[in-house]
Amino acid sequence: MEVLESIKSVREVVVQAQSKGLKIGLTPTMGALHEGHVSLVSRSVQENEISVCSIFVNPTQFNNSDDFKHYPKTLDNDLKMLKNAGCDYVFVPSVREMYPEGQVSKSYDFGGIEVAMEGKFRPGHFDGVGTIVSRLFDIVTPDRAYFGEKDYQQLLIIKKLAEICNYPISIVGCDILRESSGVAMSPRNLRLSKSEFNQASFVYEQLTLAKNLYTTHSLEEINTIVKGNFMNHPVIELEYFVIADSVTMNELVQKGDFLVRAFVSAFIGEVRLIDNMALN
Ligand code: AMP
Repeated sequence: MEVLESIKSVREVVVQAQSKGLKIGLTPTMGALHEGHVSLVSRSVQENEISVCSIFVNPTQFNNSDDFKHYPKTLDNDLKMLKNAGCDYVFVPSVREMYPEGQVSKSYDFGGIEVAMEGKFRPGHFDGVGTIVSRLFDIVTPDRAYFGEKDYQQLLIIKKLAEICNYPISIVGCDILRESSGVAMSPRNLRLSKSEFNQASFVYEQLTLAKNLYTTHSLEEINTIVKGNFMNHPVIELEYFVIADSVTMNELVQKGDFLVRAFVSAFIGEVRLIDNMALN
């Protein structure tokens, strides 16, 4: 496995591989890797001759400078995990390499899927995500790119990005990996105390409850029950609980003939956790 820091070195590798007809898989990450990230890289390794994982904490997608400042960094361990997963190249660029003209996002129209939830509570977030992912797509020119359903709205944004920018890249969505308690794996879990981490399974429990209630209760009833449970929780502060159409991301008031997901964002202390689950 080779670690590359410059765009030039990535381009050399990519041009050579593609001249031989080799398929390239890209897994973009912000580091502090866990088994969830590794599952994406492993899938890339299975499906492509060359796998590239990028590690870059992208400043333009953080609307909260504290969150950016405290984002965990565990590069040595990340590299060990990637090597074990069979990754071929790790791209670890500097901010200057990725933003030579300053840390500014492009502005995108994703057709409405960017409006709710993460788009609403993290202004500018998806413009930052679109900007960095399109930069990575331009540099790595992968055949396939791997993203987790953990960030489900982001996964839809990336699919839309590929469509509106005409990238000939297949966007592969991967399942959420969870701890045995049900907590979705996330670098932000590293910032939780042991007792906070134990409490975090409440988020998973409420999503599971919503799923179990889905067949017998109206969406209004599910909303009332789950939001009430969050309100009664002594530690966890709910930011949003939204039941939405899995394709449009529009909040639903009634069931219908479409795929439905529940989405949660909640704070435990300063740490913001997100999770989601298919309800049908
Ligand atoms: P991050 O570095 O946390 O921004 O995540 C990089 C990629 O890994 C994104 O596509 C995430 O959706 C995905 N990812 C993060 N956490 C998980 C998880 N628990 N299970 C599966 N994929 C994940």
